[in-house]
Amino acid sequence: MNRNDLLQWLETTDPSRLEELYAEAYRIKREHVGTTVYFRGIIELSNICQKNCLYCGIRKGNSRVERYQMSIDEIAQTAYLADQMKYGSIVLQSGERQDEAFAQFIEEAIHKIKRVSEGRLGITLSLGEQSRETLQRWFKAGAHRYLLRIETSNESLYQKIHPDDHSFQERFACLSMLRQEGYQVGTGVMIGLPFQTLEDLADDILFFQKEAVDMIGMGPYIVHEDTPLAQEAKDFDGKKNLELGLKMIALTRILLKDVNIASTTALQSLSPEGRELGLKAGANIIMPNMTPTKYRKSYRLYDNKPCLDENALLCRGCLENRIDSIGEKIGYNQWGDSPHFLKRDRH
Ligand code: SAM
Ligand code: SF4
Repeated sequence: MNRNDLLQWLETTDPSRLEELYAEAYRIKREHVGTTVYFRGIIELSNICQKNCLYCGIRKGNSRVERYQMSIDEIAQTAYLADQMKYGSIVLQSGERQDEAFAQFIEEAIHKIKRVSEGRLGITLSLGEQSRETLQRWFKAGAHRYLLRIETSNESLYQKIHPDDHSFQERFACLSMLRQEGYQVGTGVMIGLPFQTLEDLADDILFFQKEAVDMIGMGPYIVHEDTPLAQEAKDFDGKKNLELGLKMIALTRILLKDVNIASTTALQSLSPEGRELGLKAGANIIMPNMTPTKYRKSYRLYDNKPCLDENALLCRGCLENRIDSIGEKIGYNQWGDSPHFLKRDRH
């Protein structure tokens, strides 16, 4: 598929044509990564953030958010629960902080998670841009995957959705650094952003291909009413963004074949079946929410984020039924590395 083909598919709205697209993506998924879904239990360990991304509900400038930071013991207990529930991997996610105290805190948390799970749990980090030294420390402590969305591969759009002191080039450089330091690297974009064109989205897929990423975590942009970008998103259309999100998954699967692709929570926010639809369009990873219920309401990145009143056990039960309903299996107790990572030259 070239850029033009991608663009034509992104423009398509005919339901029967889209069914063909999803079926082809599913065929490729089955052939290259199989139909086992891998879980990454996500622990949203803090909403304290030094950044001010114009779209995000926990941006520093949002004074309506009650800030929290889980303790190392709380993180370790949550990770222990993930291990007991046979999730092979967890993701530690938070707002961005680049201070030494935070670097040390995460390093200790990683050590403790490894201890409580006797080395079983795979650890993915999603903690924003960091220095090489910090990334090395965390890798040495036992983290082995890192998710850092580029948000959009169009630099001028990136500048429009961030304040002036946020830099596309620095974010891009951080992605390269992650690969050099040995991490499995995941990136992704938001889909349906104000000012974003279908050409931008086609270029995003080509960006994933060019950067040879191992994992993709992308999802629809959803408005948060207390953010500056909400002003630019008056014509926000959830149904359209959901469809665009599914098309992006399918096209990325068809082009990149053996990468891991997450069916993200943002899809579920736009439709109760959003994540199953994502799996049927070519995704193979789900990130069940493990955050203790008392913190969930404070980690609201966008409006109508689902499962805020639920707990990890309820989330697991609900997911098992949903995955079963589409005839797929869950890869319990497995890290589920992407075949792409296992094949690629790491030096
Ligand atoms: N602070 C880290 C970072 O920015 O990489 C990790 C946490 S951040 C909350 C994780 C992701 O949430 C971002 O990469 C962004 O794509 C997504 N996000 C934030 N606000 C969103 C919104 N309004 N709609 C959809 N996704 C959003
Ligand atoms: Fe902070 Fe990440 Fe939200 Fe940006 S997207 S404001 S870095 S939590």
